[in-house]
Amino acid sequence: MRAFRNIVILTGAGISAESGLRTFRAEDGLWEDHPVEEVATPEGFARDPALVQRFYDERRAQIRAASPNPAHEALGRLDREFAGQLLIVTQNIDDLHERGGARRVLHMHGEGLSAWCRACDARHRWEGTLGDGPACPACGEAAMRPDIVWFGEMPYEMDRIFDALASADLFVSIGTSGAVYPAAGFVQQASANGARTLELNLEESLGSRNFDETRLGAASELVPAWVDEVLRD
Ligand SMILES: [Zn+2]
Repeated sequence: MRAFRNIVILTGAGISAESGLRTFRAEDGLWEDHPVEEVATPEGFARDPALVQRFYDERRAQIRAASPNPAHEALGRLDREFAGQLLIVTQNIDDLHERGGARRVLHMHGEGLSAWCRACDARHRWEGTLGDGPACPACGEAAMRPDIVWFGEMPYEMDRIFDALASADLFVSIGTSGAVYPAAGFVQQASANGARTLELNLEESLGSRNFDETRLGAASELVPAWVDEVLRD
């Protein structure tokens, strides 16, 4: 491998699955046995806010109970030791990248441990429950919702992501199905801008044919091996 200076990494459900966290599965439209329309759309929230708050209260508790696995820790090491530009774009709402030591992380679909006040627009780090309608620490209104990008809402910081893809010389996709846009299109974007593209995944994804190289296996094995390669160059 030639030495790279500007790496963009996209991570998805596959990297957190080995830490016991299940996320939305595109194949059957379910998230922890709930239809995605019920728990991950603005319409679902408007219809039954109590159910949706309870769902994310459970997700928040699961995130806090989970631990980073060797794949998260390897990316934390990459972040510490790689001297070039790096951006880890994650579709995951957990904080396992951060707890694995990574700092240059962008949560395009929001964060499970963040609450967003619809009254004053403030965001707060939130480890407890929202289902009981706590007051916003900034404005006092009981108007907080999960700080999660639901289907039909715009992912966060797309301009920053596309800027990073435009200047990347290596794009790496880890543990994503290649089924959910806009993230599924990042590989073509990076490729069109001249980046080399690498996929690390448990099985071939819908987007595998778009990558220069695909390596199949568990993220907890593939990612540490790849990070070793990059840091050796
Ligand atoms: Zn507020």
